[in-house]
Amino acid sequence: MSKQDNKTMMQYFEWYLPSDGTFWNFAASEAKDLKKNGIDMVWLPPAYKGSSAEDVGYGVYDMYDLGEFDQKGTVRTKYGTAKEYETAVKKLHAAGVEVIPDVVLNHRMGADYTEEVRAIEVEYNDRERTEGEEKTICAWTGFNFPGRKDKYSAFHWTKDYFSGTDWDEATKSSGIYRFAGKQWNRETDPEMGGFDYLMGADLDTDRPEVVQETLDWGKWYFDRIKPEGVRLDAVKHISFAFYKHWLAEMRKHCGKDFFAVGEYWSPELGRLTHYLDATEHAMCLFDVPLHFRLERASKSGGNYDMGSILNDTLVKVDPDAAVTFVDNHDTEPGQALQSFVDPWFKPIAYALILLRQQGLPCVFYGDYYGIPSQNVGPVAELPRLLALRKQFAYGQQIDYFDDQNIVGWTRQGDGDHPHSGMAVLLSDGAGGVKNMDMGKTFANTEFVDAMGRCTDIVTTDENGVGLFEASGGSVSVWVTKEAAKTVI
Ligand code: CA
Repeated sequence: MSKQDNKTMMQYFEWYLPSDGTFWNFAASEAKDLKKNGIDMVWLPPAYKGSSAEDVGYGVYDMYDLGEFDQKGTVRTKYGTAKEYETAVKKLHAAGVEVIPDVVLNHRMGADYTEEVRAIEVEYNDRERTEGEEKTICAWTGFNFPGRKDKYSAFHWTKDYFSGTDWDEATKSSGIYRFAGKQWNRETDPEMGGFDYLMGADLDTDRPEVVQETLDWGKWYFDRIKPEGVRLDAVKHISFAFYKHWLAEMRKHCGKDFFAVGEYWSPELGRLTHYLDATEHAMCLFDVPLHFRLERASKSGGNYDMGSILNDTLVKVDPDAAVTFVDNHDTEPGQALQSFVDPWFKPIAYALILLRQQGLPCVFYGDYYGIPSQNVGPVAELPRLLALRKQFAYGQQIDYFDDQNIVGWTRQGDGDHPHSGMAVLLSDGAGGVKNMDMGKTFANTEFVDAMGRCTDIVTTDENGVGLFEASGGSVSVWVTKEAAKTVI
């Protein structure tokens, strides 16, 4: 897979966007500014019809309906119509922003009709343990998409193509039901005795017809939207062999080794590295362990061991496979996986993902624009950090993760980017100073803090070493005096 050198991605949505169908138009209107502000790639929310007009996109109903057919009580999706979506993608492309759509292939919701199906209930916490006897349940597994009338695809989903569900309409009872004659995928996340089942009607990827249909849809979608890559939802709930095959086939179809990032939600680094091995690095993964370290540090009142903050993270052990992020639509306040990084720590967290050499950083929409419904404001320092990444975060990196509170690194710049190079120093506790090496090309050079936290000038010695400073609970980014004059 191609390397994303110094690019910056943005997750271009948050959970609580208004369900008024105006979002694709807004994205189109922002395209040029996004590029100007240092965003090279946007991960867009699932664009196809969910089980209602308010669905964020993960309650997938019809993947061929991008807001074009009267289904589930609406033509448009939460974000707008198919035409508006395609216009937004065109505007983003015209502005030089790559489009990375969200692909959800684990489950379906909002079926058109129920079917009787023989099934056996399994324990929630151990999906290999059955409860009671096999029985007939009434399952929402029939999808014939009456509003679309087979346009684009004549494939209809039935119980044969799913392996289980969580609702028996006959008795109005919830539980996890595995369909008779089916097995959960063995090669999934080991939680819950095998975490194949997540929600809705779970796709049976052991069926060749299901694999073929997901490929047929993928080809239709890629030909129509022409995205530069994909964000893959819930990969730990799908047989590990599935996406390895799906991506290989899709890349063959597109004739390019397009970018892919998977959501494997686990704080355990070993799970992520195992998945990368199992899929032969067919995709990058979000660095979930790093997210949890950032969150914990933000809630430790200045007592986190900052020297160890990158330990046991994906970006440390496999930097080319890591998409680093601070927060996302699942971690924001009010969500199931809520683990929002405290506001005071956000500039530090963003410095750690934006100004270092390793990892592809993904900025969260809610941090860039704020989350009005939750009274969360934008991260004020974020535009400056994005500009500093784009202009000056180049060249060799020397790390100084040698203290409980005050850690930092230098970037020595390169010849391709005028005035590039920086010294980053941060503290989760009290302020202080550290000697850091900028390299001989920066000998006897005056540096200023582009974040404006420290007002002194730091002058390096004849070897390029300077005594840089950070104030308490903040990050300072030291650039040359000439560089500071050119920060956008
Ligand atoms: Ca599954």
